Amino acid sequence: RIVLGIESSCDETGAGLVRLRGDGTVELLADAVASSVDQHARFGGVVPEIASRAHLEAMAPTVRRAFADAGLALSDVDAVAVTAGPGLAGALMVGVAAAKAYASALGVPLYGVNHLGGHVAVDTLEHGPLPQRCLAMLVSGGHTQLLLVEGIADKITQIGSTIDDAAGEAYDKVARVLDLPYPGGPPIDKQAKQGDPHAISFPRGLTGPRDAKFDFSFSGLKTAVARWVEQEQRAGREIPVADVCASFQEAVADVLTAKAVRAAREYDVDTLVISGGVAANSRLSALAAERCAEAGIALRVPRPRLCTDNGAMIAALGAHVLASGAAPSPLDLAANPGLPVDTIVVH
Ligand code: ATP
Ligand code: MG
Ligand code: FE
Repeated sequence: RIVLGIESSCDETGAGLVRLRGDGTVELLADAVASSVDQHARFGGVVPEIASRAHLEAMAPTVRRAFADAGLALSDVDAVAVTAGPGLAGALMVGVAAAKAYASALGVPLYGVNHLGGHVAVDTLEHGPLPQRCLAMLVSGGHTQLLLVEGIADKITQIGSTIDDAAGEAYDKVARVLDLPYPGGPPIDKQAKQGDPHAISFPRGLTGPRDAKFDFSFSGLKTAVARWVEQEQRAGREIPVADVCASFQEAVADVLTAKAVRAAREYDVDTLVISGGVAANSRLSALAAERCAEAGIALRVPRPRLCTDNGAMIAALGAHVLASGAAPSPLDLAANPGLPVDTIVVH
């Protein structure tokens, strides 16, 4: 069966197509993405109104491109999945409206699914079925959380999250302080390769013995970097950008991987999936690989293109939900900007 997935929760318009095989495995057929990231660059962050308008313009062409790439026709589709939330209200509404139109015109079931579950489900397109229980760490511009996955289509529980900034948000803010372009992840990652990760000792938030075990905090780290840079500037010293990037990046990777491994041990799972835009970070994946190997945990990181927002991840989750036999969403499905992570399908 063929599933069309539509994503529009933030600044990427995504249309993906997957095939659900009889044995329950899911195959990627097409993954078309249009991003409005360039239009947000001068604001240093996503502007909701700009994102919604861009979705409106990009939706139909992106869906058409997915079908062309897969060599399929609209009439081949057996189900439509769409991101119902969480995300930006106006942005989500564009995708939900489009998905309803396709589903009702084609007479196929509609599944309003959870964006965060999609970030986990996408890994099955790359690495095959997930074990019955696993841990997922979602690190992006809008999210930083640890999820216990006990069935990709039916049970996902949040066990920790950031109490302030998301990891990607910290990257974007630190890039701004250092006059590096937006989004900050890629340029900081690149600079860090030339720097010394131990040059400056930046704080590791919420890692004290009395801190909440699986929550994260990156706002103190971001402020510490800004203060350090300001201080050096005031003293008339040149900023060692590569060292600042490497030291900042080390602090982020250290905290994320330490907590993920600790959570895997505590919940007795042997598989860790890392997804979201920050999963593309070279130091994060290297340190995660090192620490997971030591702890006997299998590490799964989808390729960068599948880690950032896309339609294939929504199609993948939709396919798993379809396979589970869950009831479809009603055709009056509404976008829910605050959809909780444990709601995998909206009914
Ligand atoms: P959401 O949180 O809803 O998934 P988003 O658009 O913010 O939305 P993504 O597109 O998954 O999330 O990721 C974008 C974020 O990933 C940005 O903050 C960007 O700086 C960060 N990022 C991208 N590449 C890297 C990298 N190599 N290292 C670190 N961060 C990165
Ligand atoms: Mg994005
Ligand atoms: Fe996302």
